[in-house]
Amino acid sequence: PGNDVILVVDNVHATYNHAITALHGVSFELRRGEFLALLGANGAGKSTTLKAVSNLLPAERGQINAGAIGFEGGDVSHRRPGDLVRAGLVQVLEGRHCFKSLTVEENLVSGGIGRSGRRAEINQDLQRIYDFFPRLAEKRRTLAGLTSGGEQQMTAIGRALMSRPRLLVLDEPSMGLAPLVVQDIFLALKKLNRETGLSILVAEQNSAVALKYADHATVLENGVSVLTGAAADLRQREDMRAFYLGQQ
Ligand code: ATP
Repeated sequence: PGNDVILVVDNVHATYNHAITALHGVSFELRRGEFLALLGANGAGKSTTLKAVSNLLPAERGQINAGAIGFEGGDVSHRRPGDLVRAGLVQVLEGRHCFKSLTVEENLVSGGIGRSGRRAEINQDLQRIYDFFPRLAEKRRTLAGLTSGGEQQMTAIGRALMSRPRLLVLDEPSMGLAPLVVQDIFLALKKLNRETGLSILVAEQNSAVALKYADHATVLENGVSVLTGAAADLRQREDMRAFYLGQQ
């Protein structure tokens, strides 16, 4: 792949406990600056794919049995998850992880691992995050645990941004959130992607919203990537809506 490809997932097969097959043939590429959605039903293998990308499978007794994943041209399986974060591959895990007993701003500041602790720089990054998520600016002094689900998801995304990612990976950011809040979050992701060139990989069951904002999408079915295309094209396809995504 050329230098314009930031992530390559090449025919990945993965199991848990050397037994349960979760993935058996997942392939896709993410170009620099692209916003790619990974779609599929519950259990199709989206989370497993994202964990494989950040080399988080070993921590869950998962293993890649075949295939490879390259980030910026290097195989991720040789790198610890924290090293990948420092290299710019940052993931927002499923379930909007934030520290509930810290304020929103403390949560954001805590996200800046592996970077300079200079106050001026931190303040600059905080300001950028508040520009993308004005709601967080209003709630900066509020304990994260007292904010809404949507605000907690924004806080989790903001924390990830404090690490200055080159590739931002998000697992099911819409989970448990009201439709309007989901739109807000995807709109902010789109804006980040457009205005800063940040590459984004998002796993979503909510294909309607993902296809509205992403550039491209890859569909997983039973651990296999069965289809990749431009989001605008996939939106039009009847078979896609009815069969893969379970929508009418
Ligand atoms: P979801 O929306 O439920 O997260 P998904 O598309 O992300 O679905 P995965 O979570 O990747 O799917 O699951 C793929 C398969 O791997 C499923 O059969 C699941 O039961 C199995 N699996 C996932 N995590 C584990 C684990 N820690 N141990 C054993 N099996 C697992």
